[in-house]
Amino acid sequence: MTLVDRHNFQTFSPLLYQVATAGLAADHVAYPIRGALRKSTIAFRMGSPISVDHRNKEVKLDSSEVLTFDHLIVALGSATADFGIKGVTEHALGMKSVAEAINIRTEVMRRFEDLCRFQDETRLSISIVGGGPTGVEMAGAFAELVRGPLTSDQAHAAEHIDIYLIEAGPRLLPSFSKSLSARTKKDLEKLGVKVLTETAVAELTPRKILLKNGDEIPSEVTIWAAGVQGQPLAQNLSLPIVGTRIDVEPTLQVKNYPNFWAIGDIAGAKGKDGRFLPMVAPVAMQQGTFVAKQIARVIKGEDLLPFAYKDKGSMATIGRAKAVVEVKKLRLVGAPAWFAWLFLHLFYLLGGRNKVLTMTDWMWNYLTFDRGNRHIMDSQ
Ligand SMILES: Cc1cc2nc3c(=O)[nH]c(=O)nc-3n(C[C@H](O)[C@H](O)[C@H](O)COP(=O)(O)OP(=O)(O)OC[C@H]3O[C@@H](n4cnc5c(N)ncnc54)[C@H](O)[C@@H]3O)c2cc1C
Repeated sequence: MTLVDRHNFQTFSPLLYQVATAGLAADHVAYPIRGALRKSTIAFRMGSPISVDHRNKEVKLDSSEVLTFDHLIVALGSATADFGIKGVTEHALGMKSVAEAINIRTEVMRRFEDLCRFQDETRLSISIVGGGPTGVEMAGAFAELVRGPLTSDQAHAAEHIDIYLIEAGPRLLPSFSKSLSARTKKDLEKLGVKVLTETAVAELTPRKILLKNGDEIPSEVTIWAAGVQGQPLAQNLSLPIVGTRIDVEPTLQVKNYPNFWAIGDIAGAKGKDGRFLPMVAPVAMQQGTFVAKQIARVIKGEDLLPFAYKDKGSMATIGRAKAVVEVKKLRLVGAPAWFAWLFLHLFYLLGGRNKVLTMTDWMWNYLTFDRGNRHIMDSQ
């Protein structure tokens, strides 16, 4: 068995926003793939697939190596979706990888350093577009960065920073209940975030966001957390696509290609309601385990089963002792939700070192109100 990935590490995406907002060091959310596979018989190749020969069951990598297979599982994940809005690619920062998270941190800290040179009324505006869990978590974390460490660094500059959270729909966290959406908005506003709902973006320019209602918002740093789509590379693999994802049977076999499987964000699998399953980690993890068992069934000549997703609920953190959790009819807010969020994320983070260092950073941040990862470490 061989695992192929363009990175030699696994990224724990749910904590990327903490890297972007100086709460965690980047290496705490990345785990070496070879380390994870050390005790297994699985080989690893760093690279990208460039083509698949369906007839001969071969996949060619960008290193020119050709791997043969009996079964190919495609788990390419997702990419940022700009919905065709002008200027997103050029002027917004994405948040899908460790490199992008470091880039956001660098941009914000560099603009803050610029602001510190002015002792006048010049303002710095940071905007996050998209009021889903990533946008909410990022806005709350930036607000706390400004109120805490940046205020201690240079109070005048910190007082001149505005954080906007812009959502096209009527409420934040649309996948949560209305009461938790309302609570999230209230908590973010208490932290000083300017929350704009029913506000659709028409275009991004270098220092401004143009809205569909004709208004403009100044924005020196714009972070795009408004949408995801299946990883575009999947389109090169000559497999059937539905929307931006690979079209699959309920068994998770790719339509018309029984030896190909798709799982996670890239798989266009549908739930009981006929809608695509959400692009979230529990879907990907459940599908991974499920497909391993399906292939074992094929080998043993047994019948295949349809995949059924077990939704275990959703959670999002807003800030220090502020979070929302929804598990079926159970709804938690405030400190209990925040502790549940901390525990679960620590549990799923890969690697003992990463768990210990993340916990240490969190405790340090909590006790000192400081954030030790405010470095600008790019090559400029
Ligand atoms: C910022 C952020 C926060 C999130 N927060 C949450 C959360 O709180 N809770 C939750 O449930 N979900 C969250 N998600 C979604 C969750 O991370 C995904 O649903 C989950 O990781 C999907 O798993 P996957 O295996 O399909 O894709 P991924 O985990 O994205 O893995 C895809 C892999 O494919 C590799 N790859 C991509 N393109 C290529 C290529 N061309 N060649 C070779 N390899 C390639 C990548 O390097 C990556 O390792 C978040 C996502 C993001 C971006």
